[in-house]
Amino acid sequence: MAYQTINPYTNEVEKTFENTTDEELEQTLATAHQLYLGWRKHNDLEERKQVILNLGHILRERREEYATIMTKDMGKLIGEAEGEVDLCASFCDYYVAHADKFLAPDIIATTSGRAKVIKQSLGTLVAVEPWNFPFYQIARVFIPNFIVGNPMILKDASNCPASAQAFADAVKEAGAPEGSLTNLFLSYDQVNKAIADKRVAGVCLTGSERGGATVAKEAGANLKKNTMELGGNDAFIILDDADWDLVAKVAPVARLYNAGQVCTSSKRFIVLEKDYDRFLEIMKDAFSKVKMGDPLDPSTTLAPLSSKKAKDKLQGQVDLAVKNGAKVYYGNKPVDLEGQFFMPTILTDITPDNPIFDTEMFGPVASVYKVKSEEEAIELANNSSYGLGNTVFSKDYDHAERVAAKIETGMSWINAGWASLPELPFGGVKNSGYGRELSSYGIDEFMNKHLIYEARQ
Ligand code: NAP
Repeated sequence: MAYQTINPYTNEVEKTFENTTDEELEQTLATAHQLYLGWRKHNDLEERKQVILNLGHILRERREEYATIMTKDMGKLIGEAEGEVDLCASFCDYYVAHADKFLAPDIIATTSGRAKVIKQSLGTLVAVEPWNFPFYQIARVFIPNFIVGNPMILKDASNCPASAQAFADAVKEAGAPEGSLTNLFLSYDQVNKAIADKRVAGVCLTGSERGGATVAKEAGANLKKNTMELGGNDAFIILDDADWDLVAKVAPVARLYNAGQVCTSSKRFIVLEKDYDRFLEIMKDAFSKVKMGDPLDPSTTLAPLSSKKAKDKLQGQVDLAVKNGAKVYYGNKPVDLEGQFFMPTILTDITPDNPIFDTEMFGPVASVYKVKSEEEAIELANNSSYGLGNTVFSKDYDHAERVAAKIETGMSWINAGWASLPELPFGGVKNSGYGRELSSYGIDEFMNKHLIYEARQ
């Protein structure tokens, strides 16, 4: 497998990276394990907090440089890439501020004696990460685990190697000891080999169901703790009492941000019959106003997709949807630009027997569904293999919350599109995976909750 930056706007190969050898993998495992043992002995939490503070400074200082690397790797809009660097810096602030609290022992109430749970690191982790948020995805797992004292070996997506290396270099520059985060250009076999290695304690993956199932199988076979952050087919439900000015402002962005390549993008818009035409007009109006072009140009509003492969896959999915009865309300025409652009598209009339009904479309394609009632909206939202997030619009917060609680997902956003902040747990249920990242829940995943107990004599 080739690790290459192929700029999806110019289609030029910007850089190719050498694959990691087995010897380099072995060396990395040995270094990371020694680091883990050293941290277990000396703790060094204060030093690790300082490194993360330094990392936050470096990210803020060089945000443009890092944003440009991401844009060239996978095509995202430069403004969105800069926002991503800022978000990663905010993770640094958050975990440094809360480290002592998250790692403090829990005293267990028991009348049988005395008991406490101390929080300890587990060992070296393997992180397998995707390309859609090249810095954010790494930051989400690296920062909390570094605070805990779990070294990390990173296998990032083969189409954003420059971003992964830049993040790892920033960590080194921040003063992290060797082995803290090592970015390797691994084959799938080498990932399996690393997971099976005795010195590795766990694996976290963000990616597709296909990638997740394979890695989880290997982790299971080797009894390694793992977390899976997988795809989504998030519903956007507009209730009878929604604020339509807000819907008009939020809905198009909830689909088109990052060119629609977000696990939690709103993908299925569920609208009451009486509002259906109005909603379609709103989406068409917004979709027809996008400006495609150079993602490094701040005036561009829709970026190319990340690769030719991603564009071909999405086109295949739209074609399949249409072949099975879906109607194209807007879009689905070729874009006269060299890069991997996909015209924003609105599909309607997708029936449950359409193979695309239960498939994630990773790009600027909105599926719009008409329902007769709120109950039908909830039923439709839950008729999915996925369970990542959903969005509910209502002027009455309690009403929206009641509906949100009925949707089988790990996250619900009310009167807003999807969001990710350091203090909010991120993750899903069903085929969207298991485990949580960010917040106190995220730092907890790869921690040994070690009980110390003395029974009353
Ligand atoms: P993907 O193909 O599964 O790739 C993700 C990562 O897994 C890449 O580093 C990939 O490496 C690696 N990988 C895939 N198969 C593997 C295997 N058998 N062994 C070892 N590594 C393997 O996913 P993607 O299509 O690039 O990413 C988009 C998906 O991620 C979407 O479904 C999206 O919804 C999901 N996602 C979920 C979240 C969340 O938090 N739930 C967040 C972001 C994205 P290569 O690049 O070398 O193939």
